[in-house]
Amino acid sequence: MNKALTVLQEIFGYENFRSPQAEIIDTVIAGGDALVLMPTGGGKSLCYQIPAIARDGCGIVISPLIALMQDQVGALKQLGVRASFLNSTLDHQAANDIEQALRDNALDLLYIAPERLVKERTLGLLKSIQISLFAIDEAHCVSQWGHDFRSDYLQLSILHREFPDIPRIALTATADARTQKDIKERLDLVRAEQYLVGFDRPNIRYTIGLKNNPRNQLAKFLKQEHLTDAGIIYCLSRKKTEETAAWLKNQGFNALAYHAGLSVTERAENQAAFLREESVIIVATIAFGMGIDKPDVRFVVHLDLPKTIESYYQETGRAGRDGKPANAWLLYGLQDVIKLREMLDRSQGNEEYKRIERHRLNRMLALCETTTCRRQALLHYFDEQAADRCDNCDTCINPVETWDATEASRKALSVVYRTGQRFGVNHLVDVLRGAENEKVRQFEHQLLPVHGIGKELDGNQWHSVFRQLMARGYIRANLERYSAICLENKCRPLLRGEETIELRKDSKQKITRQQTKTALPTDLDVGLWEALRECRRRLAETQGVPPYIIFHDSTLLLMAELLPSSLAEFAGLSGVGDRKREKYGPAFIEVIRSSACSD
Ligand code: ADP
Ligand code: ZN
Repeated sequence: MNKALTVLQEIFGYENFRSPQAEIIDTVIAGGDALVLMPTGGGKSLCYQIPAIARDGCGIVISPLIALMQDQVGALKQLGVRASFLNSTLDHQAANDIEQALRDNALDLLYIAPERLVKERTLGLLKSIQISLFAIDEAHCVSQWGHDFRSDYLQLSILHREFPDIPRIALTATADARTQKDIKERLDLVRAEQYLVGFDRPNIRYTIGLKNNPRNQLAKFLKQEHLTDAGIIYCLSRKKTEETAAWLKNQGFNALAYHAGLSVTERAENQAAFLREESVIIVATIAFGMGIDKPDVRFVVHLDLPKTIESYYQETGRAGRDGKPANAWLLYGLQDVIKLREMLDRSQGNEEYKRIERHRLNRMLALCETTTCRRQALLHYFDEQAADRCDNCDTCINPVETWDATEASRKALSVVYRTGQRFGVNHLVDVLRGAENEKVRQFEHQLLPVHGIGKELDGNQWHSVFRQLMARGYIRANLERYSAICLENKCRPLLRGEETIELRKDSKQKITRQQTKTALPTDLDVGLWEALRECRRRLAETQGVPPYIIFHDSTLLLMAELLPSSLAEFAGLSGVGDRKREKYGPAFIEVIRSSACSD
C-alpha cells in the first residue's frame, strides 16, 4: 500500500486525504518543491508532516510563532511522532539535547524559528545531518506587501543555495496575487509545483453591521447565538479590550483580555485558559491569534474596523477551523473610518506605503458598504470567482435596499463646501436640518443658503449619507482639525450633476440567527456526552495539553454515536490513530460501557 496513506491511517487515524493533500505529499516525497495556498483548516500541516515521516531524515519546519510550535509538537507527540522544537524558550541544556537527538537521527520533525535557523551554528548543524525536507509555514511573512512581514523570512533564500537537493514546501492561508509572486521570487520557488485551494470558508457566516450601541449589540448577539461558546473579540486599543472584557464579565460571560501590554505571565495564562477551558471569550488586540490552532472557536467579533481585507480574512479565519458553523461578526461606523485614515496619515511609512495602505483600507470599506454578497466580494478581492449569492452572509440573508441618493449627496457636499470644510458631521447635519442652536448662530450658519435644505432626512439618515460618501472617497476627515470634513476631487462630477449615486438604506441592525442549530445532534445522549468530555478533560489535564489535542469534538461525537466496545472498533473512528487507540481507547471504552450499564 502507498506509504503516505499508511501514515495517514495508522498514525493520524484518518481514512482519506482531502484534495489536494495526496498530490502535494507525493510531490514532496518524490523530492519536488511545492507552494501551497490553502485556507485555514484546510489541512496544511499534513502536507509536510507526512512527507517528513515518510522520507529519511528529519523535516525542518520554519514557523514564526512559538505558541504554534508548542501546540504542533504537543499534538505530534500525542500521535507518537518524534517531534521537537528549537526556539528561545529552551534553556541551554534542553537545546543541546535536541541538537544531539538531531545528530542521532532520532527526530522526524523539528520546528524552528527563522531567526534561529539562519544562525551560523544552526546551519552548520543542519549540514551535518540528514534532512528530509524544509517546510516554510506562514510563507506570506516573506512579503512586505503582506501584513505579517518578517525580515528574517527574507534570509530563507539561503535554504535553496545551501541545500539545493532538499525539497522545500512553502505554505500559507493568505496571499493575494502579489504576495504569491513575492513568495515565489524570494523563496526561489518559481519552478515549484503550485497548489492553490480556494479561499472560501463556507462554514463561516459573514455579518457586517452598523455600530449604534456596540455593547448592547454585542451582548444581544452573544446571548442569542453564543451563550456558552468560545470566541474572540477584536478591538483596536488595549484599553478597550480591558474595558470590554470587564463589562462582559459583569454580564456573566467568561471573558479575558489579551494585548501586548499585559505581562508575559498574564498573557500566557489567558491564552492557556482560552485553549484549555470550553467557553472562554478572549477580548484582544490583533496581538492575539496567529498560531492559535483551537479548532472550535465559534465566533470572531470585530468591534473596530480592520485595516485591510487580508487582516479581516485572517482574523475571521480563526473561527470554525473544525468546519462546523461559525460567525464572523463586525460592527463599524463613521468614527472607525476617520480614526483609521488618521492613524494611517500620521504613520511613519513613506508616501508609496501610505498610498497602498489607503487603497487597502478603501477596499475594506467597500466590503462593509457592499450591497451584494459579502463572500463574493471577499473572494473577488483574492481574485477568485464566486457565485452571486452564498446564502450565508448578512446581505444574502437580509438583502440590502438601495436608494437614489444623488440629490441628498449633492446637498451634503454643498454644506461641507459652504461652511468652509471646517466642521464635523454633527454640525453639518444640524445645518442641513435647519437647526438654530448656539453653534449654528455662533458661525451665522442660519444665514447660509444650505441651512435647512435637508429636512426630508432625519439625523441618522444624514449620518448614513456622510459615512457612505466617506467610505467611497468623496469626502475625508481633515487631519489638522480632528474630524472636520473636507471635499475630495472625486466629488466634482457628483456636485456638477454629471454623476448619480446609489446608497445603502441602513436598516436597524438585525441579528441574522444561524439557522443551523448548535453543532450537537438532537438525539445525542447528553449524559454520555458529558461523561466523554469529562474523561477527555481529565486526560488533557494529566498530559498538560488542551482537550482538543486528545480528541476533537468530532471524534467524541463519533464515540457517542457508534458506541465502540472494543479497541478494534475504537480504531475505526476518524481521528484515532494507533497511538491514541492504545493510550486512550481503554479509558473511553470504559466510559461508554459504564454509561450503557447505568441506562
Ligand atoms: P491548516 O494548517 O490548514 O489551518 P490543519 O493542518 O490544522 O489546517 O488541519 C485542520 C484540521 O483538519 C485538523 O484538525 C486536521 O487534523 C484535520 N485534517 C487534516 N487533514 C485531514 C484529513 N485528510 N482527514 C481528516 N481530517 C483532516
Ligand atoms: Zn452571501
